[in-house]
Amino acid sequence: MSKNIKKIGVLTSGGDAPGMNAAIRAVVRTCAYHNIECIGIYRGYQGMIEGDFKEMGPRSVNNIVNKGGTILKSARSKEFMTKEGREKAYQNLVSAGVNALVVIGGDGSFTGAEIFNEEYGFSVMGIPGTIDNDIYGTSHTLGFDTALNTVVECIDKIRDTASSHNRLFFVEVMGRDAGHIALNAGIGAGAEEILIPEEDLGLERLLESLQRSKASGKSSSIVVVAEGEKMGKNVFQLKDYIEEHLPEYDIRVSVLGHMQRGGAPSCFDRVLASRLGVKAVESLIEGKTNFMVGLIADKIVLTPLEQAIKGNSDIDRELLRVSEIMST
Ligand code: ATP
Repeated sequence: MSKNIKKIGVLTSGGDAPGMNAAIRAVVRTCAYHNIECIGIYRGYQGMIEGDFKEMGPRSVNNIVNKGGTILKSARSKEFMTKEGREKAYQNLVSAGVNALVVIGGDGSFTGAEIFNEEYGFSVMGIPGTIDNDIYGTSHTLGFDTALNTVVECIDKIRDTASSHNRLFFVEVMGRDAGHIALNAGIGAGAEEILIPEEDLGLERLLESLQRSKASGKSSSIVVVAEGEKMGKNVFQLKDYIEEHLPEYDIRVSVLGHMQRGGAPSCFDRVLASRLGVKAVESLIEGKTNFMVGLIADKIVLTPLEQAIKGNSDIDRELLRVSEIMST
């Protein structure tokens, strides 16, 4: 049943991710297509509290489909976690005539949206935007594919040095709680070992594996380490440990850091963002609320926000096996 959506607000919240701009563009243009007004809300929930709004039409999103980051800026807002903050935000939206929200962000942003819906009956729709791919209800979050391409490109370059100098490289990639980037990019870049938060490989096994690798004739190696790998050691501690036990290895560490978040979105992320944006707006028009739009088996589907927030985006066991076989 339609709730007679007249004006939709769109915001980006939490960490930025490539593809957020393409999603903003899709939301704005789908609104225009259906003759619905649209406003951009700057700096996520903080901008909602401060009334930092801008009317957006199809021409205000020209030339952004290819840009990383988010033209609406992103922020983390402590104030929105208080009832008073959310009340201010609600009053601002009412004054501006906004009666539905599209929130592009991660599970924290979705939690905020869900609470806001619960308190004010406000229509909300989530679009998963985070490079970590750690959200239930979608095989891909916006930015994940671009981040993988960035990481693989970097590791390819590191490999040139590793093989020229017979070195072992530990490459740290993003992923405090989820190893999707490490596992996928590790396989794509041909890493010998991949250490992720979901699996405890064990230091002994890592040592054995590196010894085996050396004995089998490999003169250089790449080990991809997710920030939150399970053994609880940071990448520099791992280096020290391996150096101590395998002194024959010449070891270097490379922490890729924030470069993984930036850059022009891949074609995959641009197309995904466009599809998710269209579905988010059209679902709101149809009277749906409290869902996240996501991609499952190449179809755009809705998942209740609550499930998207609480569900686990489990690591793909098949990929783990593939990675094990590839390191033979
Ligand atoms: P990322 O995956 O990049 O960290 P995220 O959306 O999970 O993205 P968070 O910092 O967890 O990022 O959340 C973004 C914002 O969502 C917070 O700054 C806050 O404004 C809002 N938010 C998060 N949790 C809540 C909550 N329990 N109640 C109200 N608002 C919340």
